[in-house]
Amino acid sequence: MNALVIDVFEFCRLKERREGEVAVADLPRLASEVAGDSGVIAWSLQGGSDQSGHPRLLLEISGVVKLSCQRCLGSLDFAISSSAKLVIAIDEEEADRIDEVLADDDTDVIVGTKTLLIADLIEDEALLSIPASVKHDLCPDAESAAVDALKKPSAFAVLKDLKR
Ligand SMILES: [Zn+2]
Repeated sequence: MNALVIDVFEFCRLKERREGEVAVADLPRLASEVAGDSGVIAWSLQGGSDQSGHPRLLLEISGVVKLSCQRCLGSLDFAISSSAKLVIAIDEEEADRIDEVLADDDTDVIVGTKTLLIADLIEDEALLSIPASVKHDLCPDAESAAVDALKKPSAFAVLKDLKR
């Protein structure tokens, strides 16, 4: 895997953009949270600045990971689709200052570095977007029980009856 290291300040100043894919297996913290390390996370990272002129990253990730169903413990495909706005501070002190005036809940403040690992950002965002507990809408074992529910008349059929 490419060493995806950026100078985050330059990246934002030059409004650079990068995108790619990273295997779940290459993200150890994520891999230990999911039920199998197959799958890839597609990502894009756009540098720029916010209204106050602070460097800012826009990160988008998407992909499918395997989680365990809390009901039947079977494997479940969970689609990750998430984005993050990350304002870059020079140090902890500035991060706290920016955090205080930041009205936008969607935005996070991180301390920037000249050797920022993009994979770390991707992994953090992926971990945040995975729910603590997931269940199948319909567990494979419960399929027979749900067949009855499917026998209900469709909305279309009901509509047809009303028109008569
Ligand atoms: Zn299940």
